[in-house]
Amino acid sequence: MKAAIPFTTSSGHSYFYSSYNRQFLFSHPLINYFISLPENDRQWKAILRKTSEDQSVSVPGLGEFSNSDFRFYLRKFRFLKQHGFFKPGEQKNRDGTIPPNRIEQNLSQTKQLIFETTEDCNLDCVYCTYSKFYFNKNRERKKINTADAFKLLDLILDKRKPGSTQQLTVSFYGGEPLKNFDFIRDVVKHAEEHKKPDSRVTYSMTSNGLLLRKYINFLVENDFELAISLDGDELANSFRILKTNKKPSFDLVTRNIDMVREKYPAYFDRRVIFLTVRHSRNSLKSIYEHFSSRYGKTPIMSSITTTGVVDEFKEEFNDTFLKSRFPATENTCYVHELFTKHPLVAETAEVFERFGNFVFRRPGQLLNPLKKTRDKKKYLPTATCSPFDLRIYMSADGGIYPCEHISRIFELGSVKDSEVDINPDKITGTYNTYFQKLKKLCKQCYLADNCKECIFNTAVETGKPSCEFFMNKQKFTSHLTQIFDNLEQDQQLFARIRDEAFLAK
Ligand code: SF4
Ligand code: SF4
Repeated sequence: MKAAIPFTTSSGHSYFYSSYNRQFLFSHPLINYFISLPENDRQWKAILRKTSEDQSVSVPGLGEFSNSDFRFYLRKFRFLKQHGFFKPGEQKNRDGTIPPNRIEQNLSQTKQLIFETTEDCNLDCVYCTYSKFYFNKNRERKKINTADAFKLLDLILDKRKPGSTQQLTVSFYGGEPLKNFDFIRDVVKHAEEHKKPDSRVTYSMTSNGLLLRKYINFLVENDFELAISLDGDELANSFRILKTNKKPSFDLVTRNIDMVREKYPAYFDRRVIFLTVRHSRNSLKSIYEHFSSRYGKTPIMSSITTTGVVDEFKEEFNDTFLKSRFPATENTCYVHELFTKHPLVAETAEVFERFGNFVFRRPGQLLNPLKKTRDKKKYLPTATCSPFDLRIYMSADGGIYPCEHISRIFELGSVKDSEVDINPDKITGTYNTYFQKLKKLCKQCYLADNCKECIFNTAVETGKPSCEFFMNKQKFTSHLTQIFDNLEQDQQLFARIRDEAFLAK
């Protein structure tokens, strides 16, 4: 980051961010004025020359100041300058690459193995990433090959180090995974029989909830973490329609959820979570009110996928899913109730942690709080996870991917005819080529220290990668202004974020 960033909130309060000291400081408009003058600018000298000590000073765009005030803030500005407040902050080296041996290491300690159990689904959600709106491989109703899946599961289980207590979660994804229940049952049996004596395997599933009545006993017996996709109340959920007759699925799913809660209340409290996609038919308010009043829970929220939309349908896509039917003020509702699950709180806490200087997660950070020593580490551009470190995803047609969220064009390997093809050199070569393509942009990005973008969402496969979250100085200044505006309007929020948000992470 190049230098100090002055900004003023809508209520007229001035601040500046010192990237060198990693501090947000309450400021004075004159200090911000001096900061914004180009280096070696002598404008203030000219202003002073034209005014005698008993005259007020007129500053272009700011108004009149008493001569003593002007001189006081000029002295303060010089003092801060002398102490490095306006120096450019240390930039992280973003020339990092992934070495081939990292793949083997990641496979031996991966946290989650996800199977696309079947491509088949009993819903026909209007916003599904396999709908007409998105580029993707044609989907049939393919079921995953059990022998191939066992091969990959065995490989992951075998690579676990003896005595490793690290947990592996085996997850079932779809389509609707319960449409291939036999596979789920066989994998659980296989994992229990083949896991190493000390190792822990747990299970999870993402389901639309339509088949829960039939299979809930099995899920409870095996203590599955059950993530049910539901977008809120009846209107909010109305993009999720039944495949057979295109009618809303809300009533059927809700009846099934109520049945689970009634029959297994302790399991429901402990292991059932909700996944909600935010779109034009719901709002933070409607989502919070529905889930808290009905289930005493707050869902995990995600935004509708906007990458990979086919040009022909872009306008219809925007009109259908992105044009909100709710006023913008809805976005600041229930900030205290949702707290760290509220996007505004999450973003504010992250900005303070990544750009500020008062959150310490490791003892070593306390020894070097200002992080001004030369950091020799090379960081990867973007926020992409290291392949297979967090998870490994096998699609129903045998493709291997780093996760379930990215386009099928990024296949990293395969399992076919009981042969697992994972080539570490090829995989790291692909990642490093992609990083090479994007690092120039990331090096100029003011948001880089709080980047949340994955390389696979940046059109990196094309000759022209781009990032919708890229921030130049101007955008970053607006971002900080927005955050401080929100904090000024709700002064308790800052205290709560300071006291609670970081511990909650
Ligand atoms: S979206 Fe990207 S960063 Fe996130 S889990 Fe998938 S591969 Fe990793
Ligand atoms: S937000 Fe985009 S441009 Fe900025 S660092 Fe992250 S990936 Fe790079």
